[in-house]
Amino acid sequence: MNNIVWHQHTIDKHTRAEQKSQKPLVIWFTGLSASGKSTIAGALEQILTHQGYHTYLLDGDNVRHGLCKDLGFSDADRKENIRRVGEVAKLAADAGLIVLAAFISPFKADRQIVREILPEDEFIEVFVDASLEVCQQRDPKGLYEKALRGEIKKFTGIDSPYEAPQDPEIHIHADRDSVAEAVNQLLAYLDSSGALKSGYEPVKISA
Ligand code: ADP
Repeated sequence: MNNIVWHQHTIDKHTRAEQKSQKPLVIWFTGLSASGKSTIAGALEQILTHQGYHTYLLDGDNVRHGLCKDLGFSDADRKENIRRVGEVAKLAADAGLIVLAAFISPFKADRQIVREILPEDEFIEVFVDASLEVCQQRDPKGLYEKALRGEIKKFTGIDSPYEAPQDPEIHIHADRDSVAEAVNQLLAYLDSSGALKSGYEPVKISA
């Protein structure tokens, strides 16, 4: 980046975060398609918003309609997809927001790049873990069925690999635990790491 110098503006991340009375964060959900990333991230976002936090949910399917609509699913395009989204998440955290990012993000190295562009205590990796069998049974968009018929190529879990995180901040067992249990696990982690202002109300779990 020759001749391009970073401009340090007067209003900075700290000011924006203080105005919102919150700690900016990137909560990064990774897992197979249909593991529950969007569902759990959306449920957590609802709770945080009702409790007065300022959030932004970046969703894998949605960004491919705009920001990343020129990208496909080759390894190189997946890498570029995550690089762009990581930069957007960083900008949104810089704006003082709690960012929830729900992306398959199958490659460890790409998730690591996002981790490294953020301050250490602002990146929370959440492994939404559900077995391939369960994801295939859920298949809410019929994508596994298409992939198995060969109509979608390079589908994660079928003919493209998923590299599970080895040491995520949070490991959700989304084929065992309910969405409410997953949200409570997330809230408990955020609370214990000091990210929440004054405790939290657990989500009621109906029998
Ligand atoms: P992803 O974003 O990982 O592709 P989605 O959230 O879009 O996954 O889809 C997951 C599907 O599984 C949804 O239809 C959701 O209602 C269902 N589901 C069933 N049980 C759970 C659970 N415990 N956690 C998350 N999703 C679940």
